[in-house]
This record gives sequence, C-alpha cells and structure tokens, in this order.
Amino acid sequence: PELAAVVAGASIDVPDFPKPGVVFKDLMPLFADGAVFRQVIDAIVTHHGAGSFDVVAGVEARGFVVAAAIAYATGTGVVPIRKAGKLPRKALSASYALEYGEATLEVHADAFVAGQRVLVVDDVLATGGTAAAAIDLVERAGGTVVGFSVLMELSFLDGRERLAPRPVHTLLTV
Ligand code: IMP
Repeated sequence: PELAAVVAGASIDVPDFPKPGVVFKDLMPLFADGAVFRQVIDAIVTHHGAGSFDVVAGVEARGFVVAAAIAYATGTGVVPIRKAGKLPRKALSASYALEYGEATLEVHADAFVAGQRVLVVDDVLATGGTAAAAIDLVERAGGTVVGFSVLMELSFLDGRERLAPRPVHTLLTV
C-alpha cells in the first residue's frame, strides 16, 4: 500500500555492501526526511496501539533511532539492546551465528520490571538472527514481548519463519 511505497521511496539500494553480492538497504534517507520519519513512526504506533506497551527495546544502532522516536511519541521509555561489551553493568548475552562467525547482543540484567510489556524494534529484518536474539534477551530479562516491528523485511531471507509463531510487523516487504 501507500506506506510501503513511501518506505521504498525513502531507502536506497547499495549494491555490494558490506560485501560483493549483497544489496544493502540503506534507510538513512528515511531517517533524514522529517515527514517520512514521522509517518513511519506513527504507523508503527497505530499498528500496536499506544498504551499496548510500556517500553520500547531497540537493537543497536539503527533500532535505537526507531525505538527512541516511538518511545517519545507514546510517553514510554527506551531500553537499548547493545553489541557485546558496551553495557557498563551486569548484562545478559545472546549469541547467534552469522554467515561467517558469530554476533552477540546484550541487555542489562535489570532492564525490565517483571512482566513489563516490551515492543521490540529494528530497522531491517533479514535472516532474523538479530531479532531472535533480541527477543530472547528481553524475555530472559523479565520483559514480556508484546510486539516486534521493522521498517523493512527482506522476505527472501526467511526471518519471519525463524521468528514464527511470533508475529512480525513490517511496513515494507521486499
Ligand atoms: P539479520 O540478523 O540477518 O535479520 O539482520 C538484521 C540486522 O542486520 C538488523 O539489525 C539490521 O540493521 C541489519 N541489516 C541486515 N541487512 C540489512 C540491510 O540491507 N540494510 C540495513 N540493515 C541491515
């Protein structure tokens, strides 16, 4: 629909980044366009419903941008899910396989009050490894994941299947 076209029009395909054969979807132009950014954030809030979550967890680094805007729009807070070694206090870790090697995400062990309703967000869903790790961390830290949103889903990488049966909300599927 209209919003999908807006997201598509505000992103740029970058061939061979970060390595040959990969077409990277660059969402920086979307973040830089005030009207589009607001439209995208409002659509995510409308989908879940303001009041349906208590806090927004965003994945480093572009997920922070999305999470902060949603949180501000809804009067909720942000919990950063960070790459390994960045958090200053006791943290929980979740590692997942990449094509070459491994990645680790972390969240502060005391980031959530038990049962707190958490909306998890990122910019792009690709293989789903990042999202699965982020959701796992939120739940291990005591949060209740009530939604997961991205701006763009790369459906050929089957991230949605990896997260099933948890629903994935996306503004654009490519
Ligand atoms: P996944 O773990 O394979 O699903 O990859 C998703 C993570 O990598 C997200 O945190 C994204 O920010 C990032 N990512 C993967 N592919 C792209 C892309 O084409 N554009 C922007 N970010 C991407």
